Amino acid sequence: MKSAARIAVIGAGLAGLSCARTLQAAGHDVIVFEKSRAAAGRMSTKRGESNTGEAWQCDTGAQYFTARDDAFQAEVQRWQDAGVATEWHPEIAVFGDAPAQSPHARPAMRYVGSPRMTAPARYLAETLTLQTQTTIQALRRDGSTWALRSAEHDWLSPRFDAVVVATPAPQAVPLLQPVQAALADLAASVRMRGSWALMLRYAAPLQLGFEAAFVNRGPLRWIAQNSHKSGRSGQHCWLLHASAAWSDAHIEDSADTVAEALLAAFAELGGSTPDAWSAHRWRYADSAQPLQIGAVWQAADGLGLCGDWLNGGKVEGAWCSGQILAGQMLASLSPG
Ligand code: FAD
Repeated sequence: MKSAARIAVIGAGLAGLSCARTLQAAGHDVIVFEKSRAAAGRMSTKRGESNTGEAWQCDTGAQYFTARDDAFQAEVQRWQDAGVATEWHPEIAVFGDAPAQSPHARPAMRYVGSPRMTAPARYLAETLTLQTQTTIQALRRDGSTWALRSAEHDWLSPRFDAVVVATPAPQAVPLLQPVQAALADLAASVRMRGSWALMLRYAAPLQLGFEAAFVNRGPLRWIAQNSHKSGRSGQHCWLLHASAAWSDAHIEDSADTVAEALLAAFAELGGSTPDAWSAHRWRYADSAQPLQIGAVWQAADGLGLCGDWLNGGKVEGAWCSGQILAGQMLASLSPG
């Protein structure tokens, strides 16, 4: 293989970005393809303007992250030094019976992106070649190289020595099925669950005596005062996440129906009616039972997989999965 490999990474979530950064640092020629308008994936923040022209922002996906792995702790420290992450110390309430494996059973430092949850991903993407609004729909093996077809641009002109699929498991299946059925089966074995998110905006701060809560009854699972996180400006916002079970049962419901149910549950916890709300439906929020295999690298085909679903779920698992895959690839690719 020539010295610098040309590598396509599909998906600009934390897993794909983590992998791409390390491959690029080793001298390889990496392009990251992302279907949405920017990097970050499920570390997502919605922004908008109220009727009166006041800006608002709210983290709709990952709410915070923990760092137990040494390498990820060092990475989070780099993010803190760069001003794109910070510690978060909310007062957290618990409603309903806590499950046996409650997060409170193993307290850890909580971190958030700063000034919003997308910030670490945007920081990682800064030095990468990122092609957004490019939805990869097909992979084709042409001799010893890969060709990629996107919904927006048809077959892309560069050919790649290696491809990394860094999408949620269900979105990896159709890409892998025609080229590596066994890997498609692996991705199909991981069931991902939905999550409805409701963003509430208030003209005046809503104080409930806590900044976040795990809710173990009714439709809700998590509520948080988004404005309590460092750097959040604009209108006062609370975020409600429905539980996975409730979300899956109501995934096709209208936003109005969902909002009615979640606002009623929020009212039972002391929440008042917001001045405005927006809903977001996550079809693939988390894996019911994520794999613990880190990543997959098939050196003979130049095909790799990374993502939270391969490494225990969560932000930390995603970043570590990208690192694991990059390490495996660098061991078999010539140095750039
Ligand atoms: P993603 O972030 O999903 O990145 C995959 C990327 O691939 C996306 O940007 C997607 O647009 C792109 N993509 C998909 N298909 C294609 C295609 N065909 N072509 C091009 N691009 C494509 N984690 C925590 O640690 N703490 C939490 O509190 C937490 N709460 C969560 C709450 C919710 C509601 C959700 C949704 C997630 C939460 N998570 C939490 C999980 C965390 O967000 C994920 O584990 C992590 O962000 C996954 O990163 P990833 O790179 O594996 O995948």
